[in-house]
Formats: sequence, structure tokens, C-alpha cells
Amino acid sequence: MSLEQYQGDMDMCCRCSTCKFVPLQKVGGFDFVNVCPSISKFNFHSYSGGGRMNIGANMLRHGFNYTDRLLDIVYNCQQCGACGVSCNYAMDMEVLAPITEFRIKCVSDGKTHPALDAAVAGMRETGSIVPPTGKRGDWAKGLKLKDATKEKVEVLLYIGDLTSHDAKLHKLARATAKILQKAGVDFGIAGDAETSTGGMAYEMGYEADFQTQARKNMTFIEQHGIRTVVTPSPHAYQAFKVLYDKFQLRGDLRVFHITEYLQQLLDEGRLTPTKRVDLAVTYHDPCHLGRLSEPWQHWQGKKVPGDRFVFDPPKVYRRGTNGVYDAPREVLGSIPGVKLTEMQRTKEYAWCCGAGGGVAQSNPEFAEWTARERINEAETTGAEAIVTACGWCANNFNAAIDAAGSRLKVFDIVELFEQSLA
Ligand code: SF4
Ligand code: SF4
Repeated sequence: MSLEQYQGDMDMCCRCSTCKFVPLQKVGGFDFVNVCPSISKFNFHSYSGGGRMNIGANMLRHGFNYTDRLLDIVYNCQQCGACGVSCNYAMDMEVLAPITEFRIKCVSDGKTHPALDAAVAGMRETGSIVPPTGKRGDWAKGLKLKDATKEKVEVLLYIGDLTSHDAKLHKLARATAKILQKAGVDFGIAGDAETSTGGMAYEMGYEADFQTQARKNMTFIEQHGIRTVVTPSPHAYQAFKVLYDKFQLRGDLRVFHITEYLQQLLDEGRLTPTKRVDLAVTYHDPCHLGRLSEPWQHWQGKKVPGDRFVFDPPKVYRRGTNGVYDAPREVLGSIPGVKLTEMQRTKEYAWCCGAGGGVAQSNPEFAEWTARERINEAETTGAEAIVTACGWCANNFNAAIDAAGSRLKVFDIVELFEQSLA
């Protein structure tokens, strides 16, 4: 892949600015019309999806002038994909892909961000994009789980970098494992041998490091005869399901986010939540479980040039509508006592939590500002808690709540579901 291959898409941008907002037909009210954290915070066109396309298109023609401002624009983007979804409401063109390629080009030209360099260097050394706090498998102590490095298992439970190494999130990993035990699933973990999917490194612009990690994971999976991966991490889910497929590394591996797997177990009658969890909640769609998890569309054909190029055969665009939206809501709905009230921006138009694309590492203040915006929106629903299905979102929401104050509590769906199985 390269930025050059998206010259045509970037040239198609007509600077209409639709990529900054929820499409007009879908707007639910004045207060929550924005979809792009970057343009909303920095308030200058270059910080929007379209602005980044305009810069990329022009620099490909006239040369790359790497100023501090340009790099500020490149790295202050969560790679959340909301711009592409809004643009593609009316337009057939790629938006997020060239933004990512632009960042990959910056990294290959040595124009990196020091915080992201440090994160990726850490991943090369330790196998984790977040600094390890102990052994990767410590979260599983005392649970007597199968060791997938030594025993044959039907399902590999992949926990992910952050949840493995953040002690506050160990309850999420443990709840996930306990639920699978209760349902009688034949699963195991790789424990200390688990290693980063590389997905976050890819979004940071380090494509070669991503590929190294992807090959390590797929070699492990193939060597141990694993056919199915289940994970509570949307980042890992999207990496295994979409990015590995994009690079034709996934083979026939089946990949489930835990909410999809729980929905299946519920449908099969293998789990029955009975204990009430009386709580008014609103649900935050994580970008990597929602719009970014839509399957990759492989396309082969020819580009027909013209004033506006077309593809023969026609290309299928990922518009964010095929992300995982129903499973988390059905799992929440199965918990007696939980009452869900939706926010205005949901599903493919959900506002990002702020932590993605390396922004949590490169500009934590911007990450927290973005989370605060979501907390404000969640508060308008009257909910007692914001529920999500991602450790990165939960951590970032908690940071925003601690910094700015809010009565909202933060939960992962898995925690509430496990409580209801008691
Ligand atoms: S990226 Fe799409 S929505 Fe944004 S300005 Fe360009 S054409 Fe308009
Ligand atoms: S990926 Fe997200 S943060 Fe980046 S330009 Fe698009 S909407 Fe804005």
C-alpha cells in the first residue's frame, strides 16, 4: 500500500466539510453534530479528514515539506474513521486509508513523534505497546486456565496489551475467562507468550512493525492448530479480523469480539443471566468494534480515468454500517435490571473516546479532552453509568472523569454480564 495509490481519492475531495459532522439527515440535535475530534479541538480545516486529504494530494504533487505544523496535523488524529463514514454517506472515495498512509509515509521518511517512537520501541523489546507492569499472564493467576502453548484448545482467548498490563483492567480479563468457564467453552490463553497484534503500531504509522507482530501471532496460531480467537479488546479484534485480512495474513481464522461470542452463547442457551443489576446505562460504541471492524473489502480490477475516476468492476466501500453494533446491545439487554438509553451519536457516528491512533501516547491532553466531550454527551441521557466494551475507552473515560469531575461510573459490558450470572 502507499499514499500514491490514493492520489485519485484525495483529488476527489471537494472540500465540502461533510467529514466534520454527522450527516445532516442523521443529526439529532444542535449540541452533538461533530464527528471529528481533531477539527473540533483544533478548529482549522487542515485538522479535518478533508484537510488531511488536501494536504496529501498537494504534497504528492509538489513535494513534502515537513514542518512542525504539518507533523502536528498528522499526529493529532485518532484514526477513528468517523470522517470517512460521514464523507461516504454521499461520496464513493477512501478517506481514512490515505490519512493512515500519510502517517506511514511520515514514519518511513523519519518524521516520527517521540512518544510513538518510544511506544513502538517498547513493543519491539517486550511485545507490548504499553509498558509492561509485570508478566503478561499475571491477570490469570489462580484461575486454572488451559495453557494454549502446551495444550490443544478450541478457542484462544487473546487479552491484549493494555488489559494484560494494567492492573485496573485485570477484572475485565478475569470476568471474560470466568464467563467462558461457566459456559463450558474449551479455551486457553497464551499467558506470558501472548504478544501484541501490532494493530496500534500500524495506526501510529509503523507498518513494518505491525507486519512483524502479525506474522508472529499467525505463526503461533498456525503452529498450535487454533481455529478461533475470542478477545475482549476491540483493538485486537479489529487487527485480527480486518488488518490481518487486509494484508492477507488471516487465512481462515475465525475472530470474535467477546460480545459477539456471548451473544452466540446466549442464543445457544449456554448462559442465562438471572441476577438483577439495577443500573441506568448508556452505551459507547468503541471505534474499533464499530465502524472500524467492518470486514476489509478486497478489490481487483481497473481504474477508469476521467474527470472523476470510476472502478471496473465497481468497488465496494466500507461505510461503517457493518460494524458490531447489535451484539453489545443484545448482551446488555439480556442483563436483568439494566436500562439502556442511547446517546445522540451512536454506531457508525459514535464520537471517539480519544485514546486511539497513538493520541493517548502523543497528546494525552487531547485524548482526555475528547473523552470529556463523550462524557458530556453521556450525561445528557440521565444514565448512571457509561458502559463500553474496550479497556482503552474505559481508561480514557475514567481519566476524564477524574480530571473534570462527573457523577458517571464506567463499566465494561463483560463486568456487568458476569455479575448477572452469579
Ligand atoms: S473528505 Fe469528503 S466530506 Fe470531507 S471535505 Fe472532502 S469530499 Fe467533503
Ligand atoms: S480519523 Fe477521526 S480524528 Fe482523524 S480526521 Fe478522521 S474523524 Fe478526525
